[in-house]
Amino acid sequence: MLVTSKQIFQVAQEKGFAFPAPNFIDQLSIASYIEVAEKRKIPMLLSFAQVHQEFLSLEEAACLGRFYGERTKMPMVLHLDHGQDLDTIMRAIELGFTSVMIDASMENLEENIRRTKEVVKYAHQRGVVVEAEIGHVGSGENYESHTVTDSIYTSPAEAKYFADKTQVDSLAISIGTAHGSYKAEPKIQFDVLQQIRQSVTIPLVLHGGSSSGDDNLRRCAREGISKVNVFTDLMNAAGQAVKNQEVQNYIEVKDLSRQGIIRCLEHFCDILEVDKYGRA
Ligand SMILES: [Zn+2]
Repeated sequence: MLVTSKQIFQVAQEKGFAFPAPNFIDQLSIASYIEVAEKRKIPMLLSFAQVHQEFLSLEEAACLGRFYGERTKMPMVLHLDHGQDLDTIMRAIELGFTSVMIDASMENLEENIRRTKEVVKYAHQRGVVVEAEIGHVGSGENYESHTVTDSIYTSPAEAKYFADKTQVDSLAISIGTAHGSYKAEPKIQFDVLQQIRQSVTIPLVLHGGSSSGDDNLRRCAREGISKVNVFTDLMNAAGQAVKNQEVQNYIEVKDLSRQGIIRCLEHFCDILEVDKYGRA
């Protein structure tokens, strides 16, 4: 069934774990994510990034998300990741996305607030939840983001101001991760995470989960992050799975890719301790 992230994030906050939010770019990837969710009896955040319209149109993503999301018994969130403009976000909501992100984190604080409020107003009237970003999670060159940007750490005081002003449902914060891969394991600012956690009550989100280090991610999940976005590692896992084999045809490529993606996502489920979801 399709749901918003409201209730499942509440469980994550209470029990001290995080959900992985993998980006899908085609039928194979979304079906693999659903397979993991059903096997482990956990909800999943099926994320589609606006920038990935080069692989899949918003309409195709909505069709896949609704098809797979509605037929499974597990709660599924169909989430628009890194929504960049109001038009695309409004269209996603009309197409059945249950959660949207507005990423105006490159703008100054007041402009970020103005744009986020606009989206929150539109989305809330339609029962859809909103994620925004404060501070900025930077990017190397990768498939999720085409511009190289530097990170700006989130200020705890600004996070509180932002959450109060916008009434946003969840907040992506910048505490040391970046999109894409790293040259070395990142240094996470756990003290900043703790300060933000103490100043805002809404669920916190970590972008750039790939290759951020198992211990780092586990600690983030335990110390107040409710969702970790992952993509690069999943795509690399598929590539590695194929690379190590002598494949004869497309069917074998797909099957090995699927297995690689599933193994990698299960690993994220383990380190984020998402199995706490079903425990008493
Ligand atoms: Zn991101």
